[in-house]
Amino acid sequence: KGQLICVGTGIQLAGQIGELSVSYIRLADVVFSLVPDGFTERWLASLNDDVRSLQVYYAQADEIKNRRETYQQMVDAILTEVNANKIVVCALYGHPGVFSCVSHMAIEQARLQGFKAKMLAGVSAEACLWADLGIDPGRCGHQSYEATQFMLYQHQPDTSAHVVLWQIALAGEHTLTQFCTTKAKIQILVEHLSQWYNPTHKVVIYEAANLAVQTPRIEWITLAELVNVPLTTISTLLIPPSKALTLNNKMLARLAITEADLG
Ligand code: SAM
Repeated sequence: KGQLICVGTGIQLAGQIGELSVSYIRLADVVFSLVPDGFTERWLASLNDDVRSLQVYYAQADEIKNRRETYQQMVDAILTEVNANKIVVCALYGHPGVFSCVSHMAIEQARLQGFKAKMLAGVSAEACLWADLGIDPGRCGHQSYEATQFMLYQHQPDTSAHVVLWQIALAGEHTLTQFCTTKAKIQILVEHLSQWYNPTHKVVIYEAANLAVQTPRIEWITLAELVNVPLTTISTLLIPPSKALTLNNKMLARLAITEADLG
């Protein structure tokens, strides 16, 4: 009987993937892949003879294609092999289910059709961010949003926590047909964020290294400078807190504790 296992390859080639995920890749009848570079593709090919890149479903040169269609075609390709009763692995870079809809959609459909399907966690870009920047997100909490969703919906950033904006290079690009946004839309994002942050507030453009020989991009800029820095499909924006945590005095009273009790 067919089954589907979605695994994350991590961000950095070969070293950030779990042993269990590697075993599934070796064992699979078919491996579908979506990884950031040719090195990782070749590494997957060294583990399994039938590795098929899902990149082919993205719009090709001069083609205009909505990414919703791309994702559905990816899911269809995966489900066809599950229906052919194969053990199918879907190997996606980072964590397979973090800011990534294909594995969630494929798992849901496979289960609806009566197949076993599961996801194994992977090392996401955000996990690398905390490591490379030396930040414990638990110290004051953190929020994570897809940049365009952050603009289009009524999200309220908590300025005493870290705020991570994913897909910053696509901020405001709602058509799902482009792979970058415009300066004007980044300016609108900066103005939107200026409701809560001073334009001089320091933020970070982060790009984790895909290969061990590379160094991560950690570029500290002011919020206002966001309009002028190059952003790529792998850029993530981190907005550190702009104010200290403030105590919830009503809660302290309910718990019958004082600030001094907190140590
Ligand atoms: N599933 C992936 C993960 O777990 O990291 C995330 C996929 S999401 C569609 C793509 C976004 O992830 C990018 O726009 C960027 O915000 C972030 N990202 C991907 N690769 C990255 C890298 N090398 N460094 C920093 N952020 C990255």
